[in-house]
Amino acid sequence: LGPATYWLRAKERNFGARNYAPLPVVFHRGEGVWLWDVEGRRYLDMMSAYSAVSFGHAHPRLLRALTDQAQRLSLTSRAYSNDRLPLLLERLCVLFGYERALPMNTGAEAVETAIKVARKWAYRIKGVPDDMAEIIACDNNFHGRSTTIVGLSSELQYRDGFGPFPAGLKRVPYGDADALERAITPCTAAFLVEPIQGEGGIVLPPPGYLARCAELCRQHDVLLIADEVQTGLGRSGRLLACDHDGVRPDGIILGKALGGGLLPVSAFLADERVMQVLNPGDHGSTFGGNPLGAAVALAVLDLLEEENLIAHAAQLGNRWLDSLRRLRSPLVKEIRGRGLFIGIELADHAPPALTAAELLLARGVLTKDTHQRVLRFAPPLVVQQAELDWTTEVLKEVLELEAP
Ligand code: PMP
Repeated sequence: LGPATYWLRAKERNFGARNYAPLPVVFHRGEGVWLWDVEGRRYLDMMSAYSAVSFGHAHPRLLRALTDQAQRLSLTSRAYSNDRLPLLLERLCVLFGYERALPMNTGAEAVETAIKVARKWAYRIKGVPDDMAEIIACDNNFHGRSTTIVGLSSELQYRDGFGPFPAGLKRVPYGDADALERAITPCTAAFLVEPIQGEGGIVLPPPGYLARCAELCRQHDVLLIADEVQTGLGRSGRLLACDHDGVRPDGIILGKALGGGLLPVSAFLADERVMQVLNPGDHGSTFGGNPLGAAVALAVLDLLEEENLIAHAAQLGNRWLDSLRRLRSPLVKEIRGRGLFIGIELADHAPPALTAAELLLARGVLTKDTHQRVLRFAPPLVVQQAELDWTTEVLKEVLELEAP
């Protein structure tokens, strides 16, 4: 480690809470798909801050939207209206096909929002008895870190020591629609699902699963809520990952990329039949819907539409996935994904995915292990073929990938 890296990491270790164990690099600057550390070394960002930097670092159009807006108006709170948020709300509703949008900041906040709205909908509209509403999520999910959300988690580390958790939280195996059917009761408010599990290791559900879940939810008057925080906005090669399955959930949750990697912007979208349960003062956030975030999110949606990034992600990502899958390695169990959302699951006898991430880092490719034995790749959607090819070369070296 260079001196600047050492010095800064020592401060982080000495003064920061120990809730992260970052890889041994300290970044200083980013541009497009590249990051530079404090020693001046360059890295290819194949991680995009968990898909939040989907348009690359310092994208000129997003920077302009941010700085123009920051000079004019950044925050008033929602005690008043601002002149950016109404435009964003309309844009989100039109683009995604929902009647109402509720802006928040982080992904976890938007998930919490969806859970709160679903519960209130269950009491006021569905007629579930007070305090009995149930939320069903999937094993191996990741929806954030609030107390309710980790109450839904199957990951011991996320839960251990953080209880008690709210009642009415259930889980079913991901990909098993029969299990969902068995778990649904008259008190079920919502089924919360990631259309592709991200933190869980880039896990794709079996074909037809989401459609079957949607059908079950319709039959039993349960809200299907898709957490598209990581998968939405083109990551999977479609606008939403649910689009691959032709499913329109009752509600969707967006985050990460919606803020262009510049600031946290999230939203919960649903129709009036659900959102009608909210009254002024029921729910909110000082920063949710702020004009700065709204201006950036509007620029993000402009970029997505005008620069053809979704088609680009589909074409490059799927081609890259095919080429990786043609390679063989004794260290690799499976390579899977969709669009520019790709996971390499390591064989049981291989070193931990974290070690592979460290070896890639040393060679200038930024990736991250998930809490399963999976290396995840989610480069900015603006990545080019040459950069993916270079990643393949580095992967061949680190994971001993070879043409058969
Ligand atoms: N939902 C999903 C699917 C996520 O991947 C994440 C973050 N990894 C979240 C919610 C939580 O988002 P945030 O970290 O912004 O709270």
